[in-house]
Amino acid sequence: MVCHQCGQTAMGVCKFCGRGVCANHHSQMPVILAVYVGRAQTPKTIVVADALWCGVCKPQPEPIPMPEIY
Ligand SMILES: [Zn+2]
Ligand SMILES: [Zn+2]
Repeated sequence: MVCHQCGQTAMGVCKFCGRGVCANHHSQMPVILAVYVGRAQTPKTIVVADALWCGVCKPQPEPIPMPEIY
């Protein structure tokens, strides 16, 4: 596994797209694990603040509709 930007040995894999990323090129992005909508009108989320991210892909914040499945 190598970094997709510089080709050096990757320190990890992007949580969103699976690209390898080295220590120099990784980024971090909060990941919303769950959304709670309580009786109060304010939705609450559980967020992982340090998810490994390649900095290149664009994770979708919402589930993507895939009507072709049906
Ligand atoms: Zn790199
Ligand atoms: Zn990525």
